Amino acid sequence: MSGIDFMRLDDTHFDEEERMVRDSIREWVSKEFMPELQEHIRQDGSFPMQLVPQMAEMGMFGANLKGYGCAGMNNVAYGLLMQELERGDSGLRSFASVQGSLCMYPIHAYGSEEQKEKWLPEMAAGRVIGCFGLTEPDFGSFVTGQRTRAELRGDKWVLNGTKRWITNGTLAQIAIIWANTDEGMRGFLVETDRPGFEARDIKGKFSLRASVTSELFLQDVEIPEANRLPKAKGLSGPLGCLNQARYGISWGAIGAAMACFDEVVEYTKERIVQGGPLAGKQLTQQKLVYMLTEITKAQLLSLQLGRLKDRGEMHHTMVSMAKRNNVDIALEIARQARDLLGANGIVDDYQSMRHMVNLETVRTYEGTHDVHTLILGEHITGMRAI
Ligand SMILES: Cc1cc2nc3c(=O)[nH]c(=O)nc-3n(C[C@H](O)[C@H](O)[C@H](O)COP(=O)(O)OP(=O)(O)OC[C@H]3O[C@@H](n4cnc5c(N)ncnc54)[C@H](O)[C@@H]3O)c2cc1C
Repeated sequence: MSGIDFMRLDDTHFDEEERMVRDSIREWVSKEFMPELQEHIRQDGSFPMQLVPQMAEMGMFGANLKGYGCAGMNNVAYGLLMQELERGDSGLRSFASVQGSLCMYPIHAYGSEEQKEKWLPEMAAGRVIGCFGLTEPDFGSFVTGQRTRAELRGDKWVLNGTKRWITNGTLAQIAIIWANTDEGMRGFLVETDRPGFEARDIKGKFSLRASVTSELFLQDVEIPEANRLPKAKGLSGPLGCLNQARYGISWGAIGAAMACFDEVVEYTKERIVQGGPLAGKQLTQQKLVYMLTEITKAQLLSLQLGRLKDRGEMHHTMVSMAKRNNVDIALEIARQARDLLGANGIVDDYQSMRHMVNLETVRTYEGTHDVHTLILGEHITGMRAI
């Protein structure tokens, strides 16, 4: 599979290392991941765990973090990595995003030196899998009302609550749990084999089937003070992690859109309707032009965001714009591609419908489309409409 490079970013904007990361991940996804995928899609809620050591070997976990066994890539190379993973499947990109941006990043940014040394090399090597527990059954978009509580009793924290929609919950050895305390929200490292901790998978998903999604139950789970993330204070703790993951998603969505575009261009060239290829019809070409244009615009948006992130100048409203726009156009592209595939588009021999239903999740998680609209609306007007 070739990539889309309409504006010649390869020549002018990506350096050798960035292209090398992209091309090697693209090859790995095609050769190693794609042949495994269909079985997991048909199973609902399973991930090809046998690929985790290879993913670690290629530096996919915590790839843009420095030290502690992480690859230390720049943020554009990291974005291209996310793009290629999601070109395979959003479940694959989610696995790497949760491990890196939502679990390793908070330990790297808010953890003590002991926590970093204990967990990060093991997580980079894929020997320890993490999950990120923020959302609750009754609190998704707005977590300020959440009910999970941590109380300090003597030298121990005692955690009680329920988290829902947690990626990799039953696969994880370590859960980052966000809980209210008397001093506001705090983040805790909870080993999942502690008494009182239970994880159960959520079944029946139409979307993100090649990904494990779980509910976590914490009943009087005791952890030492050494398991609290010392530098995470208030909502800025989890929001800082979400910003990292949302950045990666803005690239990932481009990958899903590229996969649909590749598929539908090839298909419509071959599909004969009324004596000629479907690709030769005006309405088809209008859709293909929309797809190519939107993918190209999304690439430019994420590329500029990545360069700003490397300079430490990325603002969270910029991330909102890139996540909101790129997921939105990717979903529209997947829908239009599925449409052009006709009846063939509804079976899993073709990928556009799988990307389409996956992108419904991507539109919802990491700040819904509408929540990002309201963040940007507030930025423009100064008026909070949430
Ligand atoms: C497959 C999957 C994996 C996930 N993985 C994780 C994970 O690993 N960790 C984790 O913590 N969470 C995870 N999530 C949860 C995800 O982040 C939440 O689903 C998301 O934040 C939305 O919350 P909600 O589902 O409660 O929807 P709600 O907050 O109930 O929103 C429902 C609708 O209402 C709209 N809405 C909400 N508030 C307003 C408002 N004030 N004004 C206008 N419209 C509004 C929303 O935009 C949306 O359209 C995952 C979700 C899925 C589906």
